[in-house]
Amino acid sequence: MEAFDIIIIGGGPAGYTAALYGARAGRSVLLLEKLAPGGQMGTTDLIDNYPGFPQGVKGFQLAMDMKAGAERFGAQTKLEAVTALELAGDVKTVHTKKDGYEARAVILATGAQPRELGLPQERALRGRGVSYCATCDGMFYRGKDVAIIGGGNTAVADALYLSKLCGRVYLIHRRDKLRAPDSQRVLLEQAGNVEFLWNSRAEELLYAERLTGLKTVRVDTGESRTLDCAGVFVAVGQVPETSLLAGQVELDEAGYVVAGENCQTNLPGVFAAGDLRQKPLRQIITAAADGAVAAQMAEEFLQRERT
Ligand code: NAP
Repeated sequence: MEAFDIIIIGGGPAGYTAALYGARAGRSVLLLEKLAPGGQMGTTDLIDNYPGFPQGVKGFQLAMDMKAGAERFGAQTKLEAVTALELAGDVKTVHTKKDGYEARAVILATGAQPRELGLPQERALRGRGVSYCATCDGMFYRGKDVAIIGGGNTAVADALYLSKLCGRVYLIHRRDKLRAPDSQRVLLEQAGNVEFLWNSRAEELLYAERLTGLKTVRVDTGESRTLDCAGVFVAVGQVPETSLLAGQVELDEAGYVVAGENCQTNLPGVFAAGDLRQKPLRQIITAAADGAVAAQMAEEFLQRERT
């Protein structure tokens, strides 16, 4: 079985930053990615909130550049889906569809996906009116009417953010009370252009070439309503990609890896970086920061192991 100092699972900004730092420290590094480099970043059109790019940067380009930067120092990428992990021992084994690999340190960087509503055409309309990230895409809806689905902190933060950019902002929540603190509701009321649709769910996405509106239904009365809007922002939580870790690595009740700012999991030599880790803000820059910390912690772990 081929052996490396560090194996990184996941090729988003956390994974490739960890690969860069690990390889620059002189370690042999394998990064395993199941699809294409970049993760959620790779499928984002224009990224305006990653510093250093005054005109913004294409998500795909940034992904390829992060990959190239890590590979310049010798990190290897293999596009292979991981199927099983053995993380408890001193030597960790990573099984993929094709092969198996060993390392003394593993960095988990598989990320999280926004939860979908499950409506017909939702995937087809992604990037054409349906978005899962207000801070990424909000500016494309400047002056236009938009709807946000959800009642948690993300939905509220999105609504506040979009209320400053957009025309009318509809906040659609399935209950009559936000999951977010009530103080947030007051802020939204003060914004002046936010309308709450309580006890309501999104029923149907309306579209021509791109999204044109949304049909909602009240869960208590069955009454339906059609909203004209250019964008629907889905903020109904995230789903961390941690199914392979269950039973080995400690996860919280939502499935996120329990690991503090040093990215250390409950298992020695196993680190978690990026969106799959418990954290207050999931952005490219926070994922990249985790990648740097996790690689540094892995390096220190490997040095301690040797002595
Ligand atoms: P969340 O807290 O899990 O809230 C998800 C919201 O979506 C809930 O209001 C939920 O409704 C609703 N929802 C879930 N599934 C739905 C579905 N299928 N259809 C319609 N609505 C659905 O997720 P989040 O807002 O993304 O926050 C994730 C974590 O990050 C939380 O711990 C949050 O506090 C934290 N966060 C913190 C901040 C901050 O500034 N402190 C900012 C963002 C996120 P119910 O309420 O009825 O369950």
